Amino acid sequence: MGRVLFGYTVVNLGCKVNRVEADGFERLLAERGGVPVGEAAADLIVVNTCTVTGEAEKKTRKAVRHALSTNDGARVVVTGCASELSSETFAAMDDRVVVVPKAGADLYLSELEMSGTAPCETPESFPASPADGRTRIGIKVQDGCDNACTYCIVHVARGRATSRPADEVVAEAVALAESGVREVVLTGINLGSYDDGGTDLTDLCRRLLTATADLHGAGEPPCRFRIGSIEPMDVTGEFVSLLAEAEGRICRHLHLPLQSGSSRVLREMARPYDAHEFRQLADFLRASVPSIALTTDIIVGFPGETDEDFEDTCALARHVGFSKIHVFPYSKREGTPAAARADQVPPEAKAARTARLRALSDELAAADRASRVGTVELALVETPETATAESYHEVPAPAGAKIGSLVPAKVG
Ligand code: SF4
Repeated sequence: MGRVLFGYTVVNLGCKVNRVEADGFERLLAERGGVPVGEAAADLIVVNTCTVTGEAEKKTRKAVRHALSTNDGARVVVTGCASELSSETFAAMDDRVVVVPKAGADLYLSELEMSGTAPCETPESFPASPADGRTRIGIKVQDGCDNACTYCIVHVARGRATSRPADEVVAEAVALAESGVREVVLTGINLGSYDDGGTDLTDLCRRLLTATADLHGAGEPPCRFRIGSIEPMDVTGEFVSLLAEAEGRICRHLHLPLQSGSSRVLREMARPYDAHEFRQLADFLRASVPSIALTTDIIVGFPGETDEDFEDTCALARHVGFSKIHVFPYSKREGTPAAARADQVPPEAKAARTARLRALSDELAAADRASRVGTVELALVETPETATAESYHEVPAPAGAKIGSLVPAKVG
């Protein structure tokens, strides 16, 4: 007896955590007999929404409208951060929209009555797991956040910090490594706060390294791990020691959200560190792990940000030598303390600072790359032509290298 065949599309917006959750929806729907198809042919469209910025929320609404207008028969399930905060807005868009709280989305999709184009046997090419055809797989190990940065609505949408049991995370990583995955990304909304009641992030990484050390073919490097993003205050001395000892099995690349290089602005953002502490952390990381690559997020035009504050941000970014800066022009998120402030930065000033910081990001990325030219890094082969080095720079894939494998590659 075959499963009911139906077509589905999962539209994902936002961060790495959303990506991992969307992979989970795809896996679940595939296990139920669904086949990924384009939106126009889908019986079910799932939109995993994002609310991190005004722009992200706009894209989210557009994605739902697009799903409704491209296909007038599909059910449209809307879940994720934006739908937690504005469920009525999405529900009012059409009778076919069902808003499902994120915490219940897996259950909802696994119990949803699906009848598709025709009942039939599962096709040979049935996608059994998102690992098929994907080179880098994320595992969500943590959700939610107990901080309350004054610009952020994500901690409201996601709720209090929770951590998945370490045993479960290790089992998932082992299964992925056994299936041939060579790079696993650990993700969470506030990953550094991971604590399953006895295991912190450093302990979890140690367990992951041990459990996957021997799950690879002769002559092949073992699977490696990449830390999705970690708040500066959560980087402990122990974690840095492990990063140094692990010899690349935990990628020597950290994404440390700086947000601003002005201590005054950081205080007003309620970030629990100042510019001096961030600088010290970056210096410590460079001294302990010399080949480390550092990337970051910076918000430009936070309320009250002056030209001088912005210059402090540029100076700190230069000092740290980020290899990539994700620049976010500040956008008001209703319900946050920063949105209520009267001293919003005029759009022209925000746009000019954004352009300058993006140019600086390009300059620093080129400088970081230039400092690595001629060195060899283990790189994950993503396409026949390209691979991603440990430092997260794109490098040419060696001729004939297998997609998904880890191979030594020269940074050019
Ligand atoms: S650390 Fe701050 S910005 Fe990040 S999710 Fe928590 S409250 Fe939001």
